Amino acid sequence: LYVAADLAAGAVLTLGKDQSHYLANVMRAKLGEMVLLFNGRDGEWQGELTDVGKNAVRLVIGAQTRPQPPEPDLWLLAAPLKKDNTDLVAEKAAELGVSRLWPVFTRRTVAARVNTDRLRAHLMEAAEQCERLTVPDLAEPAALDKVLAGWDPARTLMFLDESGSGPPLAQALPQSGPLAVLVGPEGGFAPEERALLATCAFARPVSLGPRILRAETAAIAALAVVQAIVGD
Ligand code: SAM
Repeated sequence: LYVAADLAAGAVLTLGKDQSHYLANVMRAKLGEMVLLFNGRDGEWQGELTDVGKNAVRLVIGAQTRPQPPEPDLWLLAAPLKKDNTDLVAEKAAELGVSRLWPVFTRRTVAARVNTDRLRAHLMEAAEQCERLTVPDLAEPAALDKVLAGWDPARTLMFLDESGSGPPLAQALPQSGPLAVLVGPEGGFAPEERALLATCAFARPVSLGPRILRAETAAIAALAVVQAIVGD
């Protein structure tokens, strides 16, 4: 379970309403049961349930089970998609080690808005499910040109280009340094966006092969390639 509090042996925690409801009413947790806790900085700790009320579950923190591991500095910039596909991308991004998800609006983005509360919930659930000890940060959704204008050039941006202009992603990854992957919307990138990206020295167009993948497939496939080569 993700908790915002500091984690140290002997500390007593009262969980929030949603987590208490989940443990008490969905999982039907019992007094004395153990849960695993993380907060993104102190590693993983055992917590013993000392009070299981319908609205408030309390626990006492026991032993540390894992130290905080180093994690890749990997961002995913993704154009919001229709239906539930942005949720899917968020879930898979958390599983594949992304440290920040950044929804970016492009010319051809059809989805009008992003439900950031829902995306955060998906990121947290996925982090808990795959037992990573951090929850990816969700950056404020922004327009692609604004994001590029404020970019730190030390971070290489692997721009997934369905036109096939770039080398395969696996061959173009830098040896080290912070990394980001950019995936376009259902309609792909507009020519002006490709032209803009071509002027950014930190951006590298890369290919995932000759087939045009759905945007969510491209995001997941790219992250899997990155994780296989440089990830932890
Ligand atoms: N029309 C389909 C859809 O509705 O999902 C295809 C969408 S594709 C144009 C969306 C994005 O996926 C592209 O902008 C690109 O970032 C990425 N993509 C898809 N296939 C790719 C490939 N073979 N190589 C690199 N990127 C790819």
